[in-house]
Amino acid sequence: MQKALFVSGKRKYLFCGDQNGMEILQPVIDLAVEKNAPYEIYSEEQPLFDWLNRQKMGCYLYIAAKWDKLHSLKKLTEEVGFSEEEAQYIGYGERLVNVFCCRCHGISKVILQETLEIACNDCDLHLEISDHYSSLKNAYLGYVAKL
Ligand SMILES: [Zn+2]
Repeated sequence: MQKALFVSGKRKYLFCGDQNGMEILQPVIDLAVEKNAPYEIYSEEQPLFDWLNRQKMGCYLYIAAKWDKLHSLKKLTEEVGFSEEEAQYIGYGERLVNVFCCRCHGISKVILQETLEIACNDCDLHLEISDHYSSLKNAYLGYVAKL
């Protein structure tokens, strides 16, 4: 499981998460409280877009959600104007990813867990999932696994 890291020196901290997400964020919220830093926790009374949109410059955003929801949340925050340096995304739960086969160029959908090795859905080649992500293919590149 990913952990949220406290980034100090920000003007204000924003926290957004579902129930499990808030548990993941709690240590960082505790740190913000300890350091007397201004912070705000998102409540679902208003649309997330509006909440983010009315925040001023210099805010730092934490979002913790299930992997399958995290991608759309990230898109939304980028639309509002948060850059990679102004936000942290923490995913939890099962993570469905695409793996690009280096031999047949097929895409295998796998649930990413402890194991980082799979067999290609198309050609059955034993693949090692690398951390090279291709946004063009929306997939992680799979290399021939060393046996
Ligand atoms: Zn293949």
